[in-house]
Amino acid sequence: MSNLVPPHGSETLKPLLLEGEARAEELKKAEGLKKVPMTSRETSDLIMMGIGAFTPLDGFMGYDDWKGCCDDFQMPSKDGLFWPIPITLSADEDLANSISIGEEVALWDKETESIMGTMKVTEKYTIDKEHECKQVFRTTDTEHPGVQKVMAQGPVNLAGPIKVVSESYYPEMFKGIYQRPAEARKIFEERDWSTVAALQLRNPMHNSHAYLAWIAIEVCDGVYIHQLVGKLKPGDIPAEVRVKAIQALVDNYFRKERVVQGGYPMEMRYAGPREALLHAVFRQNYGCSHLIVGRDHAGVGDYYGPFDAQKIFREIPQDALVLRPLCMDWTFYCYKCQSMASMKTCPHEEKAVLDENGNYVSGARLLLSGTMLRKMLSEGKPVPKEFSKPEVIAILKEYYASLKEKVEVKLHGAATGEAANKK
Ligand SMILES: [Zn+2]
Repeated sequence: MSNLVPPHGSETLKPLLLEGEARAEELKKAEGLKKVPMTSRETSDLIMMGIGAFTPLDGFMGYDDWKGCCDDFQMPSKDGLFWPIPITLSADEDLANSISIGEEVALWDKETESIMGTMKVTEKYTIDKEHECKQVFRTTDTEHPGVQKVMAQGPVNLAGPIKVVSESYYPEMFKGIYQRPAEARKIFEERDWSTVAALQLRNPMHNSHAYLAWIAIEVCDGVYIHQLVGKLKPGDIPAEVRVKAIQALVDNYFRKERVVQGGYPMEMRYAGPREALLHAVFRQNYGCSHLIVGRDHAGVGDYYGPFDAQKIFREIPQDALVLRPLCMDWTFYCYKCQSMASMKTCPHEEKAVLDENGNYVSGARLLLSGTMLRKMLSEGKPVPKEFSKPEVIAILKEYYASLKEKVEVKLHGAATGEAANKK
């Protein structure tokens, strides 16, 4: 018997991925169908549905669910079940016109030029893209990477139940890290865990993340270091480097039996608070009872307040999810506390001053942001030892030294600590 939280809105996981003969037959059939090209985001959503991470979705959403998600965080087609971000597929007008309702189509990944699945088209509809952006991203600014993608979508959405035939390159490329929800649940069950905190990562793990993970282990049976192996922004550190850096940290500074590392294929939307909720939905499907929500979870630039992603969990109905957020305050290293600390614990308000070699001069708090770490590394500046463990720094330095072109990392308010007072 599993003691883990149940999947979202369902007693069992609902993976849409076919296997064995059924998969081979579907693929053969798909080759004769009209191809609907998918963007990388749409492909990543399809894989999430394939592996059961988006349980209980059975395909791309129709208009009512699109609107329900945008305006009320719920899907009318699933008795009003909570869902925070529309999962939709778009097409250009000519293609949409050529497809009739009830027709089966092949879902085609443009990037890998391969068939990913099939869909029985049950609905074609147009949406107000600006409305979706306003609701989901809280902005229609086309500088926002998530907004950009919605605005660039085809004008018609196609909806219907899907069958998935491929997980793309993830199982091969991220062997040992890429995990389906059923696989993660099995590991947790073998360890007899009932409470698991997910730590979402898309940057290398520095001491702040380690601190969050240690706290989570204190209050839960274990921590699931769950990192994104889907698409990121240019300038972000590739997954294989992050995996190596996390492993170095886990091997040297954690009790192995309390940590599981895994990867998931979803592309970031950078929707801040809304995305934190989507992260919560699929972490529950992975068997996690808690999601660590720190500063600026899934945000980008200065679009969201540093704790908006925590607030939104208090605004949704309390029975929306079984998973609970583990809200953590802003954490940092404090030279006066001589340890990691947070705004909730440390009484020393002044910022630490370091010399150009990263050695302590005066003050107290050293804010550790992934963006700052990347900036120091890309500029070849020494990284203070309080920022990250030496094993991690060594791996990251090696990666930056291997880059042919210098990456320019822009600092936004939240990364410099300027937004600390916005709370
Ligand atoms: Zn302090």
